[in-house]
Amino acid sequence: MDQDVAAKEQPRYIKLNERDNVAIVVNDFGLPAGSRFASGLTLRAFVPQGHKTALVDIALDQPIVRYGEVIGYALSPILAGEWVDEARIRMPDAPDLDKLEISTAVPAPLPPLEGFTFEGYRNPDGSVGTKNILGISSSVQCVKGTMEYAVKRIRAELLPKYPNVDDVVPLTHAYGCGVAITAPDAVVPIRTLQNIALNPNFGGEILVVGLGCEKLAPERLVPEGVSDAIVRMQDEAFDGFGAIVDAIMTQAEARLKILNKRTRETCPASDLVIGLQCGGSDAFSGVTANPAVGFAADLLVRAGATVMFSEVTEVRDAIQLLTRRAINEDVGRALVREMAWYDSYLARGGADRSANTTPGNKKGGLANIVEKSLGSIVKSGSSAITDVLSPGEKATQKGMLFAATPASDFICGTLQLASGMTLQVFTTGRGTPYGLAAAPVIKVATRTELARRWKDLIDFDAGSIATGEKTIEEAGWDLFRLILDVASGRTKPWSDRWGIHNDLTLFNPAPVT
Ligand code: CA
Repeated sequence: MDQDVAAKEQPRYIKLNERDNVAIVVNDFGLPAGSRFASGLTLRAFVPQGHKTALVDIALDQPIVRYGEVIGYALSPILAGEWVDEARIRMPDAPDLDKLEISTAVPAPLPPLEGFTFEGYRNPDGSVGTKNILGISSSVQCVKGTMEYAVKRIRAELLPKYPNVDDVVPLTHAYGCGVAITAPDAVVPIRTLQNIALNPNFGGEILVVGLGCEKLAPERLVPEGVSDAIVRMQDEAFDGFGAIVDAIMTQAEARLKILNKRTRETCPASDLVIGLQCGGSDAFSGVTANPAVGFAADLLVRAGATVMFSEVTEVRDAIQLLTRRAINEDVGRALVREMAWYDSYLARGGADRSANTTPGNKKGGLANIVEKSLGSIVKSGSSAITDVLSPGEKATQKGMLFAATPASDFICGTLQLASGMTLQVFTTGRGTPYGLAAAPVIKVATRTELARRWKDLIDFDAGSIATGEKTIEEAGWDLFRLILDVASGRTKPWSDRWGIHNDLTLFNPAPVT
């Protein structure tokens, strides 16, 4: 065994803040009772990788501190070296939305970062895509099978003639009929569909397939000034299914001809719109992957890009740290407004934010949503928060935005696409094959063990931060460069190489009928 390997097998833990009274075990597969750390602490029980051990004795009802913040209270006395698992922690209440500090610690603007570019597809409206895709919208689920049939033929018969076009993507969904279309919250799915069609990766070419009797009239998905963009299946001019498919293919080919003229050109990094998300988090998310993403996010913000982070239930318990960073009072109030809206949305369904954590999160060492949130918001970096988007709204500002979405991977991905996201960075601890057809997804592993095992699914290993092989800064720069490469089409993420993509999944908080 060489010295390097021996050094890696020394019992190691990570303590993040000097106030912390717990630390997480780094070693793959955990450590047995009796393991002695360099600090002198000896484990009294087996502690799995990523799980917490107490650094000092913690008395009944005393705070358990990680990230320098209280993640809960001891349900029974805990001895130094014991495993602090979720059953020993009482979760604190969520921060009171009426007592938050707004804009009290606005970070100074970060120094500008000049000279970084990527090869993108510039659109007539000034936006820049990272892919060249024909996206075909739909106004109702009824047409899904027809669209998939037509898209299969378009891919086989038409796409080879237009080599500059990457793909044809049917934007199908479960909405459109059987829904309370005039309910106030129906604005969310409707604007999501309207804005997704305008995603920069689709080059401004709009085509909608509709049925004809649905509640969501296809016209609502066509921006003003665009004509001849709808194929309506019930149109009496169509004599049979074959004629309908022919019409979709004719309309598609007209757009493929235009999209085929798009070529990549050198664009400043400020034209990027990057979405951040996590899924299948573990206790390393807040130690390795999310800090690396946070550092890369700061670099993107410094380069003038738009970056958005999301997932309301994963920031709710750390919202007091975010409202202070709001660039002004309005942005701070908007953060509070989105939290309050989500609190009431969950309450209507008889749930609260504790419904967020999954069995996998807990297996990965995350005791509760408070601990998960503190690790999650690290990916927003250290800049001021410049804007807040309600679900499905289009981004118009540069800098770090909060785009309010559920934490569900597919719904968050869909809403960020509607907000104009052209590349997503996705951190995962437990592992997920997640991908999006409309925009490349860079998957970042929190642990080297996962990155090795899933060598053909994970694009970036942030586990090297835990083992000490890379600093957060080094990993952040590497990730930033990978983002520019993927945005330029030079590097394909694994989900695109395999062609494995999740469904568009609309967020519909309104009733169905
Ligand atoms: Ca998620």
